[in-house]
Amino acid sequence: QQGAGMHSVNPATGETFASYDTLSPEQIEERLSRAVVAFESYRLSSFEQRAAWMTRAAEVLEARAQELGELATREMGKTLAAAVAEVKKCASGCRYYAQNAEKFLADEGVVTEAERAYVTYQPLGVVLAVMPWNFPYWQVFRFIGPAIMAGNVGLLKHASNVPGCALAIESVMTEAGFPQGVFQTLLVGSKGVEAILKDDRVRAVSLTGSEGAGRSVAGTAGAAIKPAVMELGGSDPFIVMPSADLELSIKTAVTARTINNGQSCIAAKRFIVHADIYDRFVDGFVAGLAALKLGDPMLEDTDIGPLATPAIRDEVHGLVQDAVQKGAKVLLGGQVPAGQSQLAQGNYYPVTALSELTPEMEVYGEEVFGPVALIFRVADIEGAVKVANATRFGLASSVWTTDKAEQARFVRDIEAGSVFVNSMVASDPRLPFGGVKASGFGRELSRHGIHEFVNTKTVSIG
Ligand code: NAP
Repeated sequence: QQGAGMHSVNPATGETFASYDTLSPEQIEERLSRAVVAFESYRLSSFEQRAAWMTRAAEVLEARAQELGELATREMGKTLAAAVAEVKKCASGCRYYAQNAEKFLADEGVVTEAERAYVTYQPLGVVLAVMPWNFPYWQVFRFIGPAIMAGNVGLLKHASNVPGCALAIESVMTEAGFPQGVFQTLLVGSKGVEAILKDDRVRAVSLTGSEGAGRSVAGTAGAAIKPAVMELGGSDPFIVMPSADLELSIKTAVTARTINNGQSCIAAKRFIVHADIYDRFVDGFVAGLAALKLGDPMLEDTDIGPLATPAIRDEVHGLVQDAVQKGAKVLLGGQVPAGQSQLAQGNYYPVTALSELTPEMEVYGEEVFGPVALIFRVADIEGAVKVANATRFGLASSVWTTDKAEQARFVRDIEAGSVFVNSMVASDPRLPFGGVKASGFGRELSRHGIHEFVNTKTVSIG
């Protein structure tokens, strides 16, 4: 049993390898005051100066990619290769906003009866970021890039199981040369969020996390009348129609479900397959999943590491067992590793595929945050759209068809924040990212992301 504070626990072994004290109310106050002081001068800095610091942050990330990658793997279990790639992606996100922020936030002239009228974009002030552990760096840097380039200052409340990554991010920003107080990590638990967000000095919040966390934080933000971006869960459909390139769709489906050990908000979670190609797709898909290697995430030949915490593994297995009890067919996996094996020591869960799913099963409506593929057979495009939308989530979607009319139909009718046709869903700094329905509101990335945390100020002269 662990005491108060935050702990870094290796999900591959269960070993606690670092512990940190959480902040006292006085320490939180100190950081809040520091943020406000920092904003007073930082808001007046030029885009050129901010871009220089942000570019330097990209260089620091690249130089420290291996070290930061190893830390993420040890704290949350993603493979080392994926963790190092994530750090490098953060560098590209920093560069994107270093290069584009000024253009995105340039004044816009408007013709009215006034002598001159224009819209100008100004920073809001102190912005709180509440972030998840699954992409412990990328989730934070995709907030940092736009929010900090817009002239805001940031406070990070990261997930409690990645305190090392949280502190490392602050150190990257300090090493990059950002003035003291522009970006600070707060080691506080989720119970500490409400008071911080209610503080008048905090002007907005960005949360990436589960639906439950979203309801709670959006509720607080709403009551305090503060802008919020909510990036919540997803149960994304991956639809395969008869005209699709079957081989490529199968290969992509395997990656799309198992990326990040199956713990990604935009992982394809429900595979909706047209009856004409169902058997061929499922045979190939299950064979592809079965070929993946579960094991130590530090090793190069490992495809899938452990889940981040024992609670997540229990939740995933609970959903699988519920489905199986209610008649789901197990095509692969479904058993928690037991006995003396290495896998039984960590939070490993085998890649699992289920079919014959019905709405009575909990998996039908819930997000499964682990490597479990749910497979559905549909007779036609009507059925495909219906199953795709039969969820309270609406984050993203991937559809596989070369038929232009079918593509247009999916783009029009799928209730989601994005539709990727004949490719896998991925976040990209150039494209807006976010969801509808219970997947949240607001957008990150692209020019849309930077406009979330600015005061769109109207100026009318004469
Ligand atoms: P989580 O448990 O909701 O935690 C996310 C963050 O919110 C953590 O910092 C957590 O702090 C905090 N938190 C949790 N409950 C809170 C509450 N009631 N009030 C204030 N803060 C609270 O989510 P997770 O398990 O870390 O991440 C997985 C979830 O995130 C999945 O649902 C996934 O789909 C979603 N996600 C969404 C996106 C997206 O862009 N849409 C991206 C990635 C992940 P503690 O750790 O201290 O509890």
